[in-house]
Amino acid sequence: MKTDRLYYADSYTRAFSARVVERVTVEARPAVVLDQTYFYPASGGQPCDTGRINGIPVVAVVIRESDGALLHLLEAESPGEQAQGEVDWPRRFDHMQQHTGQHVLSQVFIRIAEAETVSFHLGADNVTIDLVASQLSPADLARAEDLANEIVQRHLEIRAWFPADDELNRLPLRREPRAQGPVRVVAIGNFDFTACGGTHVARTGEIGLIKILGAAKAGKDARIEFLCGERARRDYHRKNALAAQLAAGFSIGVGEVDQAVARLKNENQELRRALNSARSQLLDAEAAECLAAASERDGLRLVRRAWLDRDPAELRGLAERLVKNPGVVVLLGTAGAKAHLVLARSADVDKNMAGILKNALVAVGGKGGGSPHMAQGGGGKADMEAVEKALRAAEGETLPDG
Ligand SMILES: [Zn+2]
Repeated sequence: MKTDRLYYADSYTRAFSARVVERVTVEARPAVVLDQTYFYPASGGQPCDTGRINGIPVVAVVIRESDGALLHLLEAESPGEQAQGEVDWPRRFDHMQQHTGQHVLSQVFIRIAEAETVSFHLGADNVTIDLVASQLSPADLARAEDLANEIVQRHLEIRAWFPADDELNRLPLRREPRAQGPVRVVAIGNFDFTACGGTHVARTGEIGLIKILGAAKAGKDARIEFLCGERARRDYHRKNALAAQLAAGFSIGVGEVDQAVARLKNENQELRRALNSARSQLLDAEAAECLAAASERDGLRLVRRAWLDRDPAELRGLAERLVKNPGVVVLLGTAGAKAHLVLARSADVDKNMAGILKNALVAVGGKGGGSPHMAQGGGGKADMEAVEKALRAAEGETLPDG
């Protein structure tokens, strides 16, 4: 049996009496069909209402496609023929604010950018519309938000009704109705007319603030994220607190945070440059020290060293400096959670370090590679003993007659 949808004519009544006309099981839950209801079923991009029937939580409301009956899914069985329904009002009113705000924005984007709305998403965390538009500038978005809020402030009346065919044909509908059967029209003053079965506020002032958060590409369309009413206020509250916290962190006013962040970024860049230069000088000195302490064999100078938890980039830096000198073979390693080996030689030394690395890595695990001049790798966990062993093996292979 088709349910009489009382919310079509009245979005504000939240408590009502009805008669249970059918009991079914849906998704393993008991569900009731009422002769009439104010509960809104999930449809048209708007989530369903929740609430209670005879004190039992209503977890979902869905339309039965075969006959248009509304199924109220309950947390537990509700006995009796009489139903006392109560719609969760804060949730419903939130949906009314977001949904009516969507109508306003959809019309606004047609007026400022000839961009039609192709879909609407009203989620618990975000609200979006997708527009047929390749590019919307920040200026477009600002103009859209201005116009949308002007419509809010004009406090236009919102009307929903089922017009007869001749009236329907005269109405400037924003888009062709998609549903079969009688068409319900929702009008926002003379600003916007659209076919819609959802719940809306009675006047635009009740939408509250309409805030566009941003635009992103969604395939060929533009996705606009926005918030209305209480959601926008809560978002403002959070962002104001965040801005205040940032300003307090810098001991400045909220209006100066952007300059403070820019200053901090600059300082950070300069410090990084200074640090890199100091590190480079330290590596120069360390390379000189390594070379002075190198052991000489077969006319080659051999540097073999291992550390615990050293940055592989430093090992590389050290190796690059050492092999600038003629006749040098460098075998470096760091032990730790991510062991790493760097094997290198001077241009005038005829050894294939990539080949030698392959065998050395067996002792420490992990992957690596490189050129005959320099090879590196690792990544597995290895202690000092394993790394030393790998480097000794590499030494034996590089200088086999040692
Ligand atoms: Zn609507």
